[in-house]
Amino acid sequence: MADPSLAQRLAHIDARVAQAARAVGRAPEEITRIVVTKFHAADLVTDLYDLGVRDVGENRQQEFSAKAELVGPRDGLRWHFIGQAQTKKARAIRAAASVVHSVDREKLADALDRAGEGMPDLDVLLQVNLTDDPARGGVAPGGLERLAEHVEACETLTLRGVMAVAPLGAEPAPAFAALADLAERVRMIAPQATWMSAGMTADFAEAIAAGATHLRIGSAITGPRPDRG
Ligand SMILES: *Cc1c(COP(=O)(O)O)cnc(C)c1O
Repeated sequence: MADPSLAQRLAHIDARVAQAARAVGRAPEEITRIVVTKFHAADLVTDLYDLGVRDVGENRQQEFSAKAELVGPRDGLRWHFIGQAQTKKARAIRAAASVVHSVDREKLADALDRAGEGMPDLDVLLQVNLTDDPARGGVAPGGLERLAEHVEACETLTLRGVMAVAPLGAEPAPAFAALADLAERVRMIAPQATWMSAGMTADFAEAIAAGATHLRIGSAITGPRPDRG
């Protein structure tokens, strides 16, 4: 039996998402709220599924693969992979993900592409690094268009848009505005790339105002993560 407060937190966040959308003249229905379930047991995913959640996000391949296996196939359930990915894990990621948000280099795109032979096409987003720290995931803005052209040419990948995490300790709004500009540049190369994955627990309202189509919300819905290992 699901924790009753899970349903309450989910409803509360969905109400705030709808309110933030309407406040900037957007329709809440055009926004996909992904629940990030990292560090939580597979049971949380099934509880969320029973509450109507169909989009869940994970950021570590091993945890993701194990959880997807435990949850098993569920009608309409989409797993979003949102973490930094090693090329050698591409096959495992592709086996269970509906969307990969974190493509940030050609080698990773190629590995995901190769892993997709005989499978339905994979939706991918290009993760952009909005900080000056190269250790954070994502392609530098200056390399984004070239990566977009490369992914466009990958036969089994469908380029859907861009993804970013707002820099720590900075105002999120200007970062998301910069991301929206970059998203537009990607659309010149790939007109179907209309998604913008941005906004987490602390900054989803700013992301919605900047045009985010996919929010990645964890702790505000799931409660505190049990271990941050
Ligand atoms: C963990 C995580 C989130 C969710 O973060 P919360 O602050 O718990 O909402 C979103 N995006 C990425 C890439 C994450 O790793």
